[in-house]
Amino acid sequence: MGLRFQQLKKLWLLYLFLLFFAFFMFAISINLYVSSIQNAEVEPRHPKPPPKRRSLWPYKNIVAHYIGKGDIFGNMTADDYNINQFEPKQGEGADGRPVIIPPRDRFRMQRFFRLNSFNLLASDRIPLNRTLKDYRTPECRDKRYASGDLPTTSVIIVFHNEAWSVLLRTITSVINRSPKHLLKEIILVDDASDRSFLKRQLEAYIDVLAVPTRLYRMKERSGLVPARLMGAQHARGEVLTFLDAHCECSRGWLEPLLARIKQSREVVICPVIDIISDDNFSYTKTFENHWGAFNWQLSFRWFSSDRKRQSTPKPKDVTMPVATPGMAGGLFAIDRKYFYEMGAYDSNMRIWGGENVEMSFRIWQCGGRIEISPCSHVGHIFRSSTPYTFPGGMSEVLASNLARAATVWMDDWQYFVMLYTSGLSLSSKDKVNVTERIALREKLQCKPFSWYLENIWPEHFFPAPDRFFGKIIWLDGETECAQAYSQHMKNLPGRALSREWKRTFEEIESKSEEFMSLIDLERDKCLRPLHDDVPRSTLQPVTVGDCTSHAQSMDMFVITPKGQIMTNDNVCLTYRPPKQGSIKLLRNRNVTLSNIMLTQCAVDSSQFWTYDMDTQQISHRETKLCLTLKSATNAKTQKAEKVVLSMECNFKDITQKWGLIPLPWRM
Ligand code: UDP
Ligand code: MN
Repeated sequence: MGLRFQQLKKLWLLYLFLLFFAFFMFAISINLYVSSIQNAEVEPRHPKPPPKRRSLWPYKNIVAHYIGKGDIFGNMTADDYNINQFEPKQGEGADGRPVIIPPRDRFRMQRFFRLNSFNLLASDRIPLNRTLKDYRTPECRDKRYASGDLPTTSVIIVFHNEAWSVLLRTITSVINRSPKHLLKEIILVDDASDRSFLKRQLEAYIDVLAVPTRLYRMKERSGLVPARLMGAQHARGEVLTFLDAHCECSRGWLEPLLARIKQSREVVICPVIDIISDDNFSYTKTFENHWGAFNWQLSFRWFSSDRKRQSTPKPKDVTMPVATPGMAGGLFAIDRKYFYEMGAYDSNMRIWGGENVEMSFRIWQCGGRIEISPCSHVGHIFRSSTPYTFPGGMSEVLASNLARAATVWMDDWQYFVMLYTSGLSLSSKDKVNVTERIALREKLQCKPFSWYLENIWPEHFFPAPDRFFGKIIWLDGETECAQAYSQHMKNLPGRALSREWKRTFEEIESKSEEFMSLIDLERDKCLRPLHDDVPRSTLQPVTVGDCTSHAQSMDMFVITPKGQIMTNDNVCLTYRPPKQGSIKLLRNRNVTLSNIMLTQCAVDSSQFWTYDMDTQQISHRETKLCLTLKSATNAKTQKAEKVVLSMECNFKDITQKWGLIPLPWRM
């Protein structure tokens, strides 16, 4: 016994080493785990401008926070959750510069990121009154407003468990950068937050502010719509200005908004939304010429194609607002009485989402306007996940809000949205009671959704009665579908004469069921992007593949009578010869180069196509080249890929034959 003990004693160094090693491995695995949760986001929830406030919601992640004892995996304790660690450092974040967290705080930074889905430690180092640059163009800076004549405003900020430093910096920026006589009051509405510093500590703080600031509290968690409605009810300013609780107003932000409403009380006016980084809190200006609308799933999207400005008598006045079919929803100003005349908000929309869609359609269809003022810049923290809980379930709540908006305002198009948005279905309509909102639509004698699409958003990429909507299948001659389709086309009277889309659409429309029955989803190949998860804004190669479904619905196409082939998110089939040489692949680029790509729609000759019912060829109108499918080698990976490209037309080449299979989109 004694001997063994002696031996063991000699091994103590080894034990110590093993213990140390085990601990080391453990620490590494925790670190890896934490960073893996942080990088888990699929797609940012909001498009940053040309970002987004709202995004493709099926991809929206929720990071619920755990409030328990806390554990080594980075979950938060009740203390972490309630502690206010705001400790400003002189000059940190000045002029909108980024904050760099010292390496020793990195682990803590990652843990605290999850509380609000932004870098709380960075915010806690920035003074409440940090300086920002002047983000306005020289023209905007020079513009003079008859400030004495402008209406007063109540700034309404609703919040749920917002971080202390972020909320207070929002308030401070409003106070410091708004002319005092125009800022009637600030109204805060707490949507049943439970973090302790948002109770008495907040009340005490706002009591002594230079601008009258009042705080109201929702009895129970309701969502941003009920909270904003409560704020509006108590507002006394002539204009209501809504802001999210994580904004920073920059110099001169308020006057252009109020001036536009003074000019016309039927305008809902939004600032340009700049980006405050969720990671380092730097402030980045975004372009003034962006405007917003929605994709097929009604997620808000920014677009940048040229739009006419609101400008008479000077047609090129760059200080003039731009009309926008859709609003991001978080930041805007509206005449207080007009807000109520137009039906305020749909008070049955809970928690988050859909209210910006509803308001965009309602304001336009009922005679108002929505505009973005290029002279007003407000920063907003865009996050890639939702930090808070969704009582009732995130997809259920969102689906219900969207179903309400679609049912009331979208006429025939409501079915389209319900058919092709995950979480919604035709029965979603029956689950919502929108009687009051329909009555409002009647009372205000609002215009139909078709009017909105044609007049307010003529660039839209939704189906329409004079458009084709469906799949584009590759008739490689092998499948039954291909043969049946060709047979079908051959029997059409006058097919040889017609290369007009309109004529094609009519044929397909009149026999839509027959055409639909031709497709064999298992075997046929449909036109679709080569990769599933590529950013919408980039050039995407095209291929043919599985006809069943694509994550972003980009295997369904809308074809306009003029021959644009569009898909979701304003993406169009485009002829684009590679810069050097023809179809050959360039070295050292991880792209498959083809002269056919999917990219943002523009009114451009590269995006107009012709269909020949006789030969079933799709050709680029300008170059007269026909779409086909060929094998190409990816320059970098050296892998063979089947890609769609265009080449000299040959009616005998069966790889050049394509069919249009309609899909239902309205009742
Ligand atoms: N909000 C709220 N209650 C909720 C959800 C959101 O009061 O149930 C507030 C939130 O604090 C923020 C605003 O509504 O001030 C908009 O929400 P968020 O910023 O999450 O939306 P996003 O900007 O990401 O679209
Ligand atoms: Mn926000």
